[in-house]
Amino acid sequence: MVVKPMVRNNICLNAHPGGIALYVQEQIDYVKKQKRFAGPKNVLVIGGSAGYGIATRIAAAFGAGAKTISVAFEKPVSEKRGATVGWYASEYFKKKAVEEGLFAENIYGDAFSREIKEEAIAAVKKHFGKADVVVYSLASGMRIDPKTGETYRSVLKPLGKTYTAKSVNPMTSAIEDVSIAPATEEEAAATVKVMGGEDWELWMDALIAADALAEGAVTLAYSYIGPELTQDMYREGTIGKAKEHIEASAKTLDKKMKTIGGAAYISVNKAVVTRASAVIPVVPLYTGILFKILENKGLQEDCAAQMYRMFTERLYTGGPVPVDSEGRIRLDDWEMRDDVQKEVTAAWGAINQDNLGQYADFAAYQNEFLRLHGFGFPQIDYEKDVEL
Ligand code: NAD
Repeated sequence: MVVKPMVRNNICLNAHPGGIALYVQEQIDYVKKQKRFAGPKNVLVIGGSAGYGIATRIAAAFGAGAKTISVAFEKPVSEKRGATVGWYASEYFKKKAVEEGLFAENIYGDAFSREIKEEAIAAVKKHFGKADVVVYSLASGMRIDPKTGETYRSVLKPLGKTYTAKSVNPMTSAIEDVSIAPATEEEAAATVKVMGGEDWELWMDALIAADALAEGAVTLAYSYIGPELTQDMYREGTIGKAKEHIEASAKTLDKKMKTIGGAAYISVNKAVVTRASAVIPVVPLYTGILFKILENKGLQEDCAAQMYRMFTERLYTGGPVPVDSEGRIRLDDWEMRDDVQKEVTAAWGAINQDNLGQYADFAAYQNEFLRLHGFGFPQIDYEKDVEL
């Protein structure tokens, strides 16, 4: 079958297995080129098939020789369609890890469910004995509450007032003004239910109850803050409320983890192109501008570079973990640097359709979006039949 990108509303509906192999391999190569580090030995990544989750897995496995288990909502090939991006990525990761003598297991299913928690914890006990790092890297549009069976859907909307701003269609590069009506209270609460910390706490409670965490174990969840420019949409919007909630969960979990000599952290990561971030209004325009500035300053990082830095310069330095005044690990330090943000603000004010290329690197944005689905690799002939 010939596989070419099918993109609708900033969502790519298909994936090229050969391209995804290259995409994952690039991240593996990056980590292998860095210095090996004394890091975690047994890592469970919830949401470990894409974006920051798979990058965490790659950094832990190929940087520190860790055994890894990933839990992700991915589907293998069926009669009607090819497998999902994260299925190809996870299977390729596993193949490469095993080739290097590294244990890797992929669990596919709904991380919010009791059954998948039980399956993953049984796998942790069987293959690890105990986990020393548990990473929560889920990005989801919906959650079925395991207690009530009720379905919640997250929304990306402002709160309290309509938000109007410049935005870009990341696929066509068309700049337009967008107006997004505020979320209802119900929508805001549902977003917290899906993307807040409740499920992370359920995971950690279950792992603690099963005695599946090593002495000194660490758990991390990922968050984002971003600049003033995107505040109304992001940090002050529905997703921001969910991030506030998960940051509060980190404090609750930290107390529980202390009982085994461990800790719980939030890691605030930089803006990157992932399937999750591509659908947040306004964020692609900001990201396109940011990438150009970071590239010019030699500060641009992808998920793999961020996660390697997280392990080597934050979690495993041999000393205390550096955190901000709220106790959070900050990997958005370069993105949020004063000089970077000043340039972003100036570019944001000046950018229009005619000078787009001067202020933003949309080619890089679009290319990255395609690459993470396995497209846009010059080594691949996309006219050729692919074995799915
Ligand atoms: P992503 O879309 O690349 O990956 C999401 C992962 O969640 C995938 O592995 C997917 O399979 C998994 N998942 C979704 N629903 C699931 C379910 N029901 N059960 C099991 N697995 C499920 O997302 P990402 O951008 O890497 O985001 C991961 C985390 O990083 C999020 O908390 C996000 O807010 C945070 N973050 C992202 C950015 C960014 O710019 N993308 C920046 C900072 C922080």
